[in-house]
Amino acid sequence: MTEFQSALDVVVDTLEQMRAGGGRRPRASRSAIEALLANRATSPEAEFTAPADTGIGSPSQAERLAPIRARVLVCTRCPHLAASRTQTVFGTGNPDADLMFIGEAPGADEDAQGEPFVGRAGQLLTKIIETMGFARDDVYIANVLKCRPDMPVGVSGNRPPTLDEMQTCLPYLAEQIDVVQPKVLVALGATAVEGLLGTRGTMRDLRGKWHSHHETPLMITYHPSYLLRNQSPAEKRKVWEDMLLVLERLGRPISEKQRRYFL
Ligand code: URA
Repeated sequence: MTEFQSALDVVVDTLEQMRAGGGRRPRASRSAIEALLANRATSPEAEFTAPADTGIGSPSQAERLAPIRARVLVCTRCPHLAASRTQTVFGTGNPDADLMFIGEAPGADEDAQGEPFVGRAGQLLTKIIETMGFARDDVYIANVLKCRPDMPVGVSGNRPPTLDEMQTCLPYLAEQIDVVQPKVLVALGATAVEGLLGTRGTMRDLRGKWHSHHETPLMITYHPSYLLRNQSPAEKRKVWEDMLLVLERLGRPISEKQRRYFL
């Protein structure tokens, strides 16, 4: 049996279990459906067969991300999250990006839309990315967790992922990083740091200097939601200084105006 057939079996089994359970109806985001359709359009054999030694016809990064996305789409490794989520939130942006941002987990907006960082914190992240001189689609954005951490019925807001949930989901992020192979990683907040480095430190000590994740340079900075809670120019400047270091590391030009932000 090919890997493609096995993957399809997993999809069908999961859908049947959901139907038999009589619970929530399965839902998929537009981007997830597009990814599956793109997968169907390519030959299953080509998709899942190791590239020939010549390298000719090797799958692109987008093609290599598609089967990972398909596995995440139907993941039930955390049954409580599979039951509570609207949909999984895989990642977005350029699969060939030089720069990759890692967040914590989807919130309510991301759970509803199937895309990371689309709520208030996401709008701020997009602003930061654009101020750096990129479009949101130039970079790759993913989270440690692909499901929204569940909340008690009737309780709004978000909770951080548990250690167990993180350890269960992290292999997907590792695969994404392995495919995208960014030149620089940016960890947004303490949960992303814990996921990538396995350490729990204070952001004050960790941010603003270079770390390494399997030899990829890693910059640690505050999560955008921290900036939403602490609107002072001094805190914004800290994040911006971290981003200036990232731009320097990527060899990107930095204008005088960019250097002066929040001073
Ligand atoms: N916060 C995160 O860490 N990730 C998201 O996708 C949204 C908010």
